[in-house]
Amino acid sequence: MATKKKQVKSAVKKAATKGMKAVKQSAPAKGVKYVYWFGAGKAEGRADDKNLLGGKGANLAEMCRIGLPVPAGFTISTECCVEYLKHGGKYPKTLEAEVKAALAKTEKVMGMKFGDAENPLLVSCRSGARRSMPGMMETVLNVGLCSKTIPGLIKKTNNPRFVYDAYRRLIMMYSDVVMEKAEGIEPAEGKGIRKQLDDMLHEVKKQKGYASDTDLTVEDLQKLVVDFKAHVKEVLGKEFPDDPMEQLWGGIGAVFKSWNGKRAVAYRRIEGIPDDWGTAVNVQAMVFGNMGDTSATGVAFSRNPATGDHHFYGEWLVNAQGEDVVAGIRTPNPLNEATKNEQNKHLPSLETSMPQVYKQLDAIQKKLEKHYKDMQDIEFTIQEGRLWMLQCRVGKRTGVAALNMAMDMLHEKLIDAKTAVMRVAPVQLDEMLHPILDPAAEKNAKVIAKGLPAGPGGAVGHIVFTAADAVEWAKQGKDVILVREETNPEDVEGMRAAKGILTGRGGMTSHAALVARGWGKCCIVGCAALHIDVHGKKLRIDGTEYEEGAVLSLNGSKGHVYAGALDTVDATENPRFQEFMKIVDKFRTMGVRTNADTPEDARVARAFGAEGIGLFRTEHMFYGKGSDEPLAKLRKMILSKTVEERKAALNELFPFVKRDVKATMEAMDGLPVTFRLLDPPLHEFVPQSESKQAELAAELGIPVEDVKKRGEALHETNPMMGHRGVRLGITYPEVSAMQFRAILEAAAELIKEGKKALPEIMIPVTCCVKELDAQKKIFDQVYADVLAASGLKKIPVLYGTMIEIPRAALTADEMARTAEFFSFGTNDLTQMGFGFSRDDIGGFMGEYLDKNILPADPFQTIDQRGIGELIKIGVQRGRMTRPNLKVGICGEHGGEPESVKFCFTVGMNYVSCSPYRVPIARLAAAQAAIEAQSKKK
Ligand code: ADP
Ligand code: MG
Ligand code: MG
Repeated sequence: MATKKKQVKSAVKKAATKGMKAVKQSAPAKGVKYVYWFGAGKAEGRADDKNLLGGKGANLAEMCRIGLPVPAGFTISTECCVEYLKHGGKYPKTLEAEVKAALAKTEKVMGMKFGDAENPLLVSCRSGARRSMPGMMETVLNVGLCSKTIPGLIKKTNNPRFVYDAYRRLIMMYSDVVMEKAEGIEPAEGKGIRKQLDDMLHEVKKQKGYASDTDLTVEDLQKLVVDFKAHVKEVLGKEFPDDPMEQLWGGIGAVFKSWNGKRAVAYRRIEGIPDDWGTAVNVQAMVFGNMGDTSATGVAFSRNPATGDHHFYGEWLVNAQGEDVVAGIRTPNPLNEATKNEQNKHLPSLETSMPQVYKQLDAIQKKLEKHYKDMQDIEFTIQEGRLWMLQCRVGKRTGVAALNMAMDMLHEKLIDAKTAVMRVAPVQLDEMLHPILDPAAEKNAKVIAKGLPAGPGGAVGHIVFTAADAVEWAKQGKDVILVREETNPEDVEGMRAAKGILTGRGGMTSHAALVARGWGKCCIVGCAALHIDVHGKKLRIDGTEYEEGAVLSLNGSKGHVYAGALDTVDATENPRFQEFMKIVDKFRTMGVRTNADTPEDARVARAFGAEGIGLFRTEHMFYGKGSDEPLAKLRKMILSKTVEERKAALNELFPFVKRDVKATMEAMDGLPVTFRLLDPPLHEFVPQSESKQAELAAELGIPVEDVKKRGEALHETNPMMGHRGVRLGITYPEVSAMQFRAILEAAAELIKEGKKALPEIMIPVTCCVKELDAQKKIFDQVYADVLAASGLKKIPVLYGTMIEIPRAALTADEMARTAEFFSFGTNDLTQMGFGFSRDDIGGFMGEYLDKNILPADPFQTIDQRGIGELIKIGVQRGRMTRPNLKVGICGEHGGEPESVKFCFTVGMNYVSCSPYRVPIARLAAAQAAIEAQSKKK
């Protein structure tokens, strides 16, 4: 590694000091073409060549092909970059000749000569990867300006101010990109050469009392470039190169190397872009927006990227170059009258300032949209009244904009229904299902703490520190944010009452996260910057204290915390959402169910389009509102000493279970409902504190000692892998029998009432078929009893199991002998497959991701390589035994788009997810079907 770096360094050093002659060349790779020319209505590349030419190069070529005014130039391929970096900074041997030829062609078309004293051509060296990595790599403008070409350009343009302005920009960019970054020099934060030169420029402006860069005179600039060059020499120890060719090769190499720049590498990690793609270099004739009042530069979108409004939208600056618009040096002007806003309404639009050019630009953006059939993000420059196009690409957009544009374009017949469905990323739907913080307000606010984005949307409220306070404050009509170190089941009331939840600990599948997501509630977990003082009812973040009642704003989709109240916007009022989802369902083949534990949840989920319940957790009735009575019965059952006592307690519990089960099936009106038998370890239900134990003892009329003893007896070292799930049913068959009876009797009653019921009974935490067989015996007996008692001939019911232990997946062929359906419980399957406790991953998962040991948190998206393999095996072996085996998933992954697509490819019948994720899963499933179709073709 170290030697490689050295090689790169020395190669560049030589190139930079002696020009092309000394550029190192690797062995010739015969027949490989590295350079692709474009200009004057022709191009060797095209839009499809993104992999080879990068997005920018491919689109520059395409714009030439369709006759748009693009300054001529050429693209050096990403393959060349890969070669260059692989050989420690050596160019392929054939490159020099190809570059020379392409440069000559460019000179001819532009009518200028690179390095010429009379009529010099200047060029830019622009980066451009396959996928857009905005601002992550480098670009150098005005390459070719030097003592030889400056006088000629001044004479030709009769504009010395422009020439010196261009030259000072070259020195600033080149010294930064080529002489510092590409050399691997890492100055301290804020001490880079560009910053130093910037400071010098500001100093001059301050001394002279100028407000804007455009106030600098020729004399100021002339002096500045001399000072700049002296400063560069002093800081970097090298002369600023005065040879155009040397500048050009320096620029090319530096752009290649910017692929491995710190920012670019970090961005690739986040976006999952492979390291071996490389960037292309676009060498392009310069056009100038800084030649005076008839010159300008700007960026624009063919439609509004924030809202999707069908209005040409953008910003521009007169007498400016390149990055000035986005750099925020001056407030940019609005493009047209229709899209003026509060900040720029007093500034002139391009539409009124240069009506002819505006018309031409407007026609071009329309042509581009028609050609690419998508919203375009464009860069343009106007040189003395003449328009030039410098870039186009498909524009990034918010979720709301994505949906609006897809539907607009469908109605405009620009795209077909299939394309419209593919145009919205499933996660973008989140924005439409919850109120969100106003993005404009967020832009101006400071993030005071960051955590994991556990529950979507935005929330604004007064902070409180206990669940009881949350309930109390909410009762008084206040919006609250519940702040906890971490949450537990006893907090659910408070969590329900709060607008948002903020915790100091916990991961994406911690209790708070699961519950919040289930409700579609804004939630941030694992926010390490919080110092919570529950007793003092205050919170400290970064030295600032927030007392109870202080207002915070949360962005649960990003994990950002703000002080004070930010505006929120309700995005649900988009009438197009329903229309869009209808189209989505036309393409979907896999079912989408929901995880719901109450009749209310079931109703919400049905409104979102759920086609059944994939997971009903029986134990839910023992938490939260209305749980007092059933919980008391359950505790009585747990504390029973004999089978008779237990059976009596179960009989008391029975009506509560049956009531919930029946109401839920009724709400689902004939759609399948998967009931999971009691899953958690029993000790979770025995109170731990002495006072609570005493209370319970009094309630049950037994000595407190008994309660204590039972609690101790139930205590387990590792309850997650302890006496839970089917193991309870094996040791206490009567517990299973009670649940079977509740479900079957409820179904029988509904049927007799003329309603529909379709229960599916799911046995959790199984690892071998004999467990299933043992429970099935009990089930068959209860089934026969219920039939006899009800007089019905049959009750439609399926008997199946959750597959959440690796052994169950591996022995799926046996499991399917008894199970009529499988539902993959991927939370536990991931936990046991990895050996990662899902409640304790907070301690190391961050580093695993930072160090690229795992590509993603496997609790958020299915680990397809490992856990996915278990799932595949499970499905295949299961269907070997029972070809029509119904297979679904009920883990948190069922609502995560990539995982949903995976479930489709392994042939699942349905996915099941929390109610608010149902639309997301529907869209992901439709996209998976469309993708599979187009692959087949
Ligand atoms: P980025 O990928 O960061 O957008 P670009 O390569 O697009 O970088 O260049 C940065 C800025 O310089 C852009 O505003 C672009 O329009 C401008 N620019 C690039 N090449 C030229 C050129 N040949 N003539 C005029 N302006 C240019
Ligand atoms: Mg650009
Ligand atoms: Mg489980």
